[in-house]
Amino acid sequence: MPEGRRRALVTGGAGFIGSHLCDRLVSEGYAVVCMDNLRTGSLRNIAHLRSEPRFEYVDHDVTSYIRVPGRLDEVYHFASPASPKDFERIPIPILKVGALGTHNALGLSLAKGARFMLASTSEVYGDPLVHPQPEDYWGNVNPIGVRGVYDEAKRYAEAITMAYHRHHGLDTRIVRIFNTYGPRMRPDDGRMIPNFISQALSGRPLTVYGDGSQTRSVQYIDDLVEGIFRLMRSEERRPVNIGNPVEYTVREVAELVLRLSGSRAGISFRPLPKDDPKQRCPDITRAREVLGWEPRVPAEEGLRRTLEWFSGHVHRAGEKTG
Ligand code: NAD
Ligand code: UDP
Repeated sequence: MPEGRRRALVTGGAGFIGSHLCDRLVSEGYAVVCMDNLRTGSLRNIAHLRSEPRFEYVDHDVTSYIRVPGRLDEVYHFASPASPKDFERIPIPILKVGALGTHNALGLSLAKGARFMLASTSEVYGDPLVHPQPEDYWGNVNPIGVRGVYDEAKRYAEAITMAYHRHHGLDTRIVRIFNTYGPRMRPDDGRMIPNFISQALSGRPLTVYGDGSQTRSVQYIDDLVEGIFRLMRSEERRPVNIGNPVEYTVREVAELVLRLSGSRAGISFRPLPKDDPKQRCPDITRAREVLGWEPRVPAEEGLRRTLEWFSGHVHRAGEKTG
C-alpha cells in the first residue's frame, strides 16, 4: 500500500449505511476493509466493490474478537440491526453488538492507533421531552421496554466510547444519526420508508401505525454520508446530531410516497407499536457550527430517487416485501 494511502475498517459495511460509506471511502482513495456477518446486510450492497483492489470483505461477527492484519487509520463502527421490527425478533444480538461489538471495535482501534467513530442514534433520546433534540439532552428512555434493547445498547456504546477516550486517550467520534433512508434499504426491513415504498409499488395500502400524527425528520443517505465524512475529519469529540430538521408526521410521509409513486392504494391504519416516540427532530446547530454541514436533499427529491431505485432493483426482480 502506498505510504500515504489511508486504510479504514467499516463494521456493518454490507448494510444500508455501511455500504454507502464504503463507496465514499473508496472514492476518496482509501483502502477499505468491510466487515459484516450479514445478519441484516447483504453482499448485493457491496457487489460492485468486490472487483476493486482497494476493497476487501471479511465475514465476521464483531461480538467475537476482531483481528485485522496490517495498519488501520480509521475505524467506523456501524454494525447493528436498526429496524424496530428487529428489536423484538433479535433482541439479544442487538444488545451484544452494541456492547461486546463496540468494546471489540474500540480495543482494535486502540491497538492500531486508529481514529474511532461510533454510529449512535437519535434513539438515545428515547421518547423525547425536549423538542427539537440538542446533543446535551439526556433523553427519556424506557430501559425495560421493547425498544430498550437498542436504545440502551447505543447508550452503553456511547458510554464505553467516552471511557476509551477519557481513560485511554483514544481519538473518538460519535455521530447521532436520525432516521435515514435511501437505496439499498431492505424492502422487508420493517422501517417506515421501505415499507411505504414497497407497499406503494406493489399496490398495497400503506400501513400507518396509530393515527400517523407522530413525527419523524427524514434524511437522505447522501447527506448523512457527507456529515459522517466531515465529522471524522473534524476535531469534534462530543456527539454530533446528523439529521434533517424538516419534520413530517408519519401520515404526511405516507401521503408524499403515494403522490410521488402515483399509487392509489391508500392508507390502512394499524395499531401503534409500544413506546413509539411521539416526535423526533434534530437540533443541528452543532453540526452547522462545527462541521459547516447541513442537509441538502429535500424529502421529495430523496424519496423520488429511492422510489426509482426500489422500482428498478427490488420490484423488477419480483422480490416479496413485508
Ligand atoms: P443495516 O441493518 O442495513 O446495517 C447494519 C449492518 O450491520 C448489516 O450489514 C448487518 O449484517 C451488520 N451487523 C449486525 N450485527 C453484526 C455483527 N454482530 N457483526 C458484524 N456485522 C453485524 O442498518 P443501517 O440502517 O445501515 O444502520 C447502520 C448503523 O447506523 C447501525 O449502527 C444503526 O444503529 C445506525 N443508525 C441507523 C439509522 C437509520 O436511520 N438508518 C439511524 C440511527 C442509527
Ligand atoms: N411506521 C408506520 N408504518 C410502517 C412502519 C413504521 O406508520 O409501516 C411508523 C412508526 O410507528 C414510527 C415511524 O413510522 O412512528 C418511523 O418508524 P421506523 O420504523 O422507520 O423507525 P423509528 O423512527 O420508529 O425508529
